[in-house]
Amino acid sequence: MAGRLDGKVAVITGGVSGIGLGTVELFVAEGAKVVAADIQDEKGSMLEQRFPGQVRYAHCDVTKDAEIEAAVKLAASEFGGLDVLFNNAGISDSMREIAEIDAERWGWIYDILVRGPALGMKHAAPLMVERGGGSIINTASIAGLQAGWGPIAYSSAKAAVIHMSRCAAAQLSPKNIRVNAICPGLIATSIFGASLGLPRAVADQMAALVAQNAAKAQPIPKPGLPDDIAQAALYLASDASAFVTGTHLVVDGGITVGSRHSW
Ligand code: NAD
Repeated sequence: MAGRLDGKVAVITGGVSGIGLGTVELFVAEGAKVVAADIQDEKGSMLEQRFPGQVRYAHCDVTKDAEIEAAVKLAASEFGGLDVLFNNAGISDSMREIAEIDAERWGWIYDILVRGPALGMKHAAPLMVERGGGSIINTASIAGLQAGWGPIAYSSAKAAVIHMSRCAAAQLSPKNIRVNAICPGLIATSIFGASLGLPRAVADQMAALVAQNAAKAQPIPKPGLPDDIAQAALYLASDASAFVTGTHLVVDGGITVGSRHSW
């Protein structure tokens, strides 16, 4: 059977862990060639070894313009062009009151979550034009839609990602580049533990627990997994979504429509 991404080349930031890793695996299974861009080099080289000839790892801190440019250009030099950019790298933050958040912290969070995807789009668009178009997907969050799901700096940055995706969709449509956002709900990844400063291995173990607890309140009572978001990214990356741009796709087991317990 033909893969849904046969012949396509993708760059996935935050590609060695959680949602990004799940998306690398699914995109490769669907026929894509992928550059996984991240700052965890050891995991990156293991990923390259798992998928020889299909995945290249790029060390890329999304706060660094030159590293994003190099990761995007690696797709072109290694695999012949760029069709899909999944701006997915991210961090979380611990809950704290606005009076306790200093200017540096605001800058750090916005640099990773907002400026990173912006620079990714900046460098990807010209390469996509050379291919006649492309698809950009930005990971936002349900925290960007409703207050209360995350810390204030994180949540407001994710709201910015949703609107930046709309603005970019309008601007890039004449170039046949589609731009959409995905709003994950609570997904079993190490992001929660990592935001508490726990070592990655411990954070990985915590992930399943967080999603299992969330599942108890969701209308769809199963833990959210990286593959649930990867499937949404696959749809937005593939030609199946050729008529879809400037939107945000909520993938949250229904938790934002209300708790199962309130019925
Ligand atoms: P994760 O921690 O498993 O993966 C995040 C990845 O981003 C890691 O590999 C990390 O090394 C990388 N990263 C962090 N800072 C980076 C930087 N400066 N440059 C490049 N890479 C960097 O977490 P995840 O849950 O898979 O997160 C992926 C995205 O999903 C994030 O944008 C996150 O905000 C978003 N999200 C997650 C959830 C959830 O419940 N897990 C919910 C909503 C949104």
